[in-house]
Amino acid sequence: KGGAEEPRIPFAEPGSMTRVYCVASGKGGVGKSSVTVNLAVSMAQRGLSVGVVDADIYGHSVPRMLGTENKPTQVENMIMPPQAHGVKLISIGMFTPGNTPVVWRGPMLHRALQQFLSDVFWGDLDVLLLDLPPGTGDVALSTAQLMPNAEILVVTTPQQAAAEVAERAGAIAMQTRQRLAGVVENMSWMELPDGQRMDVFGSGGGQIVADSLTKSVGADVPLLGQIPLDPRLREAGDGGTPLVLEAPESPAGVVLGDVAKKL
Ligand code: ADP
Repeated sequence: KGGAEEPRIPFAEPGSMTRVYCVASGKGGVGKSSVTVNLAVSMAQRGLSVGVVDADIYGHSVPRMLGTENKPTQVENMIMPPQAHGVKLISIGMFTPGNTPVVWRGPMLHRALQQFLSDVFWGDLDVLLLDLPPGTGDVALSTAQLMPNAEILVVTTPQQAAAEVAERAGAIAMQTRQRLAGVVENMSWMELPDGQRMDVFGSGGGQIVADSLTKSVGADVPLLGQIPLDPRLREAGDGGTPLVLEAPESPAGVVLGDVAKKL
C-alpha cells in the first residue's frame, strides 16, 4: 500500500440516503444564498434533517441569514456544526479570522470543502445543500469531483444576461455528468399596490435557462418556481429569520415552500 488515503465522504458513498444539492448561479447577487437558506429551513420545518455548507467564499452570508454567530465545536476529531432554525450549518466564514477576506486558492478551497464534507459530524441527513460561489469556478468542479451524485440547482434572475451566465453553470453539470435538479427564477417581478406585476429585471430568463438546459442534457430540467421581489425577503434574511418562517404565507414564501417540496 502507498499514498495517503482520501478522506471518506459519507454523502458520496453508494447507498447514501442523503440528497445533495449544489445551489449555483452564473453571477452574484441573484439571491442564491437567500434561496438556499429558505429551502433549507422550509425542509427542516417539514421534519427533514437538513445541513447547509456555505461554500460561497465571496459572500458567506448564510450564517447571518440563519441568525447565528455560533462557531463549530470540536469533539474528538470531529467538527460539530452549529444549528439554527433546525438546520446544521458550516460556513467558510467560520474559519476565517475576524471575517478578513482571505485569498483562497483552488487547492485550499478543495481541501476546505473536503473537510466540510468528511470531518464535520452531520449525522444522518436527508438533505445537504451547498451554497456555491457564483460562476463556474474551482468550487463547482471540486464539488462534482468529491460528490458526483450531487445535483445542481440553478438560480437565475429573469434577465437575459443573467440567464446566459446561468446556462454556463449548467454546462459544468454536463461536463461532470451531474444531474440538474431544476431552475429557480428569483426577483421575477414586483407586485404593485394595484395588483399589477412590474417586470423589474425583465422576464423569461428562468424558462429560457430551463429549456436550453433540457435541450442540452436531453433530460427534463424544470423551472421549479418564480420568486417575486419582496422587501420582506431581504428584511427576513438580514434579521436572521428566513421568510419561510417570518411570513410563509407571503407570495415569495409560498413559492419557496413549493420549491422545497419539489426537491
Ligand atoms: P447571492 O447569494 O446570489 O449573492 P443573496 O441571496 O445574497 O444573493 O441576495 C442578494 C440581496 O438581494 C440580499 O440582500 C437579499 O436579501 C436580496 N434578495 C434576494 N432575493 C430577493 C427577493 N426575491 N426580493 C427582495 N430581495 C431579495
